[in-house]
Amino acid sequence: MAMFVCMPAALRAAPEAIAAKLAQQIQESSLALEIATDLTTEIGPRLYGSENEKRAAEWAMKRFHEYGFDRVWSESFPVERGWIRGEEKASIVSPSPQNLVITALGGSVPTPPEGIEAEIAHFRFIEDLLAAPEGSLKGKIAVVTHPMEIGQYAKISGGIRSKGPSEAARRGAIAFLMRSAGTDSDRVAHTGATSYRDGIPRIPAAALSVPDAQQIDRLAERFKSIRIKLVLTPKEIGAVRSQNVIAEITGREKPEEIVLLGAHLDSWDLGTGAIDDGTGVGIVMAAGKLIGELPQAPKRTVRIVLFGAEEIGLVGGKYYADSRTDELKRHIVATEADAGQGPVQFMDIGVGNPLDPSISRIRKALEPLGIKPGRSKSSGGPDIGPMHSKGVPAFGLSMFTDDYFDLHHTPNDTIDKVEPERINQSAAAFVTVGYLAAELGGYYRASDVR
Ligand code: ZN
Ligand code: ZN
Repeated sequence: MAMFVCMPAALRAAPEAIAAKLAQQIQESSLALEIATDLTTEIGPRLYGSENEKRAAEWAMKRFHEYGFDRVWSESFPVERGWIRGEEKASIVSPSPQNLVITALGGSVPTPPEGIEAEIAHFRFIEDLLAAPEGSLKGKIAVVTHPMEIGQYAKISGGIRSKGPSEAARRGAIAFLMRSAGTDSDRVAHTGATSYRDGIPRIPAAALSVPDAQQIDRLAERFKSIRIKLVLTPKEIGAVRSQNVIAEITGREKPEEIVLLGAHLDSWDLGTGAIDDGTGVGIVMAAGKLIGELPQAPKRTVRIVLFGAEEIGLVGGKYYADSRTDELKRHIVATEADAGQGPVQFMDIGVGNPLDPSISRIRKALEPLGIKPGRSKSSGGPDIGPMHSKGVPAFGLSMFTDDYFDLHHTPNDTIDKVEPERINQSAAAFVTVGYLAAELGGYYRASDVR
């Protein structure tokens, strides 16, 4: 049977055919949802530096071993300020006494145990607060009810949640309340990291649910003076440790070249971190497992990274990028799943040569999933940003986030919100990209690694 002897190279399945099979398999198995369900059920919430985050890392390492990855390890790093949530209560004392639904921003300092009571300074927009003169908020609780429209998360989280408390304190405020960075109208508040500027008093900071922020808007239209009582008793627990969990399928021809698929393993503490980022963890673990089960590994190494301590400032992503130099040069591309359940709508790219033929081949392979070519700009996802800024090329699989910012960082972030068809399509996108990038290679460099 001589024909069999000389045919393998010519008749071996095209990479696209293998990718299509993987995409089909990952959707039929619902493996990504199964993993996300196991994680959020067996571990629950995974606050950075907590015992649960550590348990999640052990859980993931065990899973990776069971799935037959070639190498599995974790890398531990310090997180400067450990933090645990305490009591959180707020109420309007006058003119119309009533409770408010709030939650402390991550990293907030506490009020005294008995709380503080003060008149509020109400701002409809952050720009109004920024225009207030120094000293003008002396002794007051600053309340910013700036709404978040769809697509404005980065602006609200960066401009208000992160900078707001110090801007208010600089003007004399004794506490800071903001309208949640969320798009829902449920009576739940959205947490998320805040940060304090050096040299400015650190004041307690919390988010109001959207309906409560709107209630304050209405009260402010009707009454000149509103008094609020606020009790927040979170604790700073000093330096803690977190970890990145890493697993690899070794490449068959160029094992030193790495294609990275990431997600973050930590979550906020209010829900069980299902859409942020249990779905991402399920998606990339499932993609890696199926690629590893192929009869023949792709040419290059596929590395799955589950980052730690993302929520408090990309600590795991920064550690990953800062603790590698030579190895970063061998990352041919990196991408992260951290925007919920999907579906993926666009493939954005942040690469040196957008015209590289392998990119159009990958984009073509994504067409049957309904994914369109996206922008020629992407940092690959939150934890990929730090390595991308050091030159690692990035793909951004941009997800439909219609419900993401309704649930994100709230007690409602639970697995029942995840729909199989949506997460399955996302998993299909990631397995397609992971496999094809590792098989096809290509000159993707964003720039020389600095
Ligand atoms: Zn996230
Ligand atoms: Zn988050």
